[in-house]
Amino acid sequence: MSGTAPERLDRFMARANAAYYAGRDPFADFITAPEISQMFGEILGAWVAVTWQGMGRPDPFVLAEAGPGRGTLMADMMRLMARVAPDCHEAARVHLVETSPRLREVQRAALAGRTAHLPAWHDAIDALPEGPMILLANEFLDALPIRQFVRTEAGWSERFVQGVGFVDLPAGDLPDGPFDRPVPAGEILECCPAALDVARGLAARFARSPGTALLIDYGYDGAVWGDTLQALRDGQPAWPLADPGLADLTAHVDFAAFAHAAVGAACHGSVTQGTLLARLGLFARAGQLARNRSPVEAHAIHDAAQRLAAPDRMGRLFKALAMTSPGLPVPPGFAAAPGMAADEGERHEP
Ligand code: SAH
Repeated sequence: MSGTAPERLDRFMARANAAYYAGRDPFADFITAPEISQMFGEILGAWVAVTWQGMGRPDPFVLAEAGPGRGTLMADMMRLMARVAPDCHEAARVHLVETSPRLREVQRAALAGRTAHLPAWHDAIDALPEGPMILLANEFLDALPIRQFVRTEAGWSERFVQGVGFVDLPAGDLPDGPFDRPVPAGEILECCPAALDVARGLAARFARSPGTALLIDYGYDGAVWGDTLQALRDGQPAWPLADPGLADLTAHVDFAAFAHAAVGAACHGSVTQGTLLARLGLFARAGQLARNRSPVEAHAIHDAAQRLAAPDRMGRLFKALAMTSPGLPVPPGFAAAPGMAADEGERHEP
């Protein structure tokens, strides 16, 4: 392999993850919020219903999810909406953005009988049909390919993959990205052009027709930097450049850069996942579900709520950003959200 030409990191990551999601069961390697507890999807189902009210109850509307994994989040949202917001459930046309044929089949099975109208699948967010839309994405942006730039005394170099190692080559034209941050020499700044394209695409769409997006992921918000590329193989951390397609490659999401790219749309947050779920009633829901259960079951429900929301578990690292058409109400859970001032101007430790 050492004789091969260097491959830019984002191209390597795109190739590796396409093979990984097409061929492997990602959920053998990691567990996501909707897989931890049905409460996650129920709470976001109620969030969709309230957001839909605030948008003027458009009927029909596109209810989209990007990167739906096993379809658990959408299935849990649908079950809740059918019960407490039947008008919204009936108006929703479910559209899923998923590139893996294998996961599309898993999602189809998960949603069978749950939606009022048959769901449809698309390869990309910009292929979603026009019209009023609410879009959710949980742990989608972190799977998109990143570029890594190394600050040098002279400017920037860029990391390429050669064999199982990195080579730094002088950077040509820099892409749009947060290159104005005070990154010290020798440190890495990441840039995810595909995520910024999502931000720009949604902002342009939300200028044409009413829309709200909720993006939840692990990441950082503020003028920070650092190497966050990581690989999970068979549930264990692995070297990201070994055996492309056998490990899940992710990078933390740069919410500040995402919001900055969403020109023309209103962005709210980020807020931490813990704050969002607490504001949306996670602990009340847990109490309700735990009532009349055995002590063991009740403990499991409360523990799942803690796992989703406690700062030392998923509650702080995971963050949520809402993006809306200009003039729409602030979505539930985002009012008066304080910024993440604590991580301004620092290296971000994954
Ligand atoms: N949202 C789910 C799954 C997260 S895993 C959950 O919370 O459980 C990431 C998901 O994004 C998978 O469904 C994967 O197939 C999909 N995905 C990854 N890259 C993608 C891309 N470029 N376009 C569309 N879907 C993608």
